Amino acid sequence: MDFSYTSYEKLISLLKQHNYAITNYIDYHKYKKAAILRHDIDFSINDSYNFSLFEESLDIKSAYFVLLSTGFYNPMEKSARKMLQDMHNRGFTIGLHFDTTVYNTSDLNKPIQSEKNILEEIIDAPVNLLSFHRPAPKVLENDLKFPGLINVYSKEFFHDFKYCSDSRFFWRDKPYDLITSEKYDRLHILTHAFCWSESDRNPDYVYKSFISQASQERYKYLTENIRNPEEFISEEEAKKLWFNR
Ligand SMILES: [Zn+2]
Repeated sequence: MDFSYTSYEKLISLLKQHNYAITNYIDYHKYKKAAILRHDIDFSINDSYNFSLFEESLDIKSAYFVLLSTGFYNPMEKSARKMLQDMHNRGFTIGLHFDTTVYNTSDLNKPIQSEKNILEEIIDAPVNLLSFHRPAPKVLENDLKFPGLINVYSKEFFHDFKYCSDSRFFWRDKPYDLITSEKYDRLHILTHAFCWSESDRNPDYVYKSFISQASQERYKYLTENIRNPEEFISEEEAKKLWFNR
């Protein structure tokens, strides 16, 4: 299975053929067979936004988890904010993706609630889903609960569901096989939109483009935030720093 949109479309068709309802963290128990589609936004809101448009074209809805503490994107930035609001308005669920290593405290509830409030302000809607970024074993083992939030790494969704993920362009369990095996009534499928595109790409190409993209974005922000940036670096010079896509 590669990381093209066609392969993802096949994943969705297989789920449908095998009678899985593509549902969410609240309604799944209404169905004999249920699949939850989750996306952690580890790298790019823009890629996730495009992926949500693609999912909409397949007539499915999923959940996207936003990492407020990342160095890769800023969810408070104007265009990011608009994209997240639009995803919410089109029926996608926006949850909080939380990095426990950022905070030096044993009481995680406080920073989780404060990030939840910030994300609610950004999307202008309630947030009630929580996923952990690169969760430590103790986070996975302890069935953690937080007021007002569904922890998608709780026992309910991490053990009672068959969980599979495409982390680092690698599936430990092959999703097509899990679906066709008929062994599981509950599937929790995590994908990262960053890995996926119209046609399959090598991971090294994806990472190089990602780095180059950051340089292009920096130049754009320079032109928007200082007067006469050309005095210091012309667009021609800036382009030399960009990877040929
Ligand atoms: Zn993550």
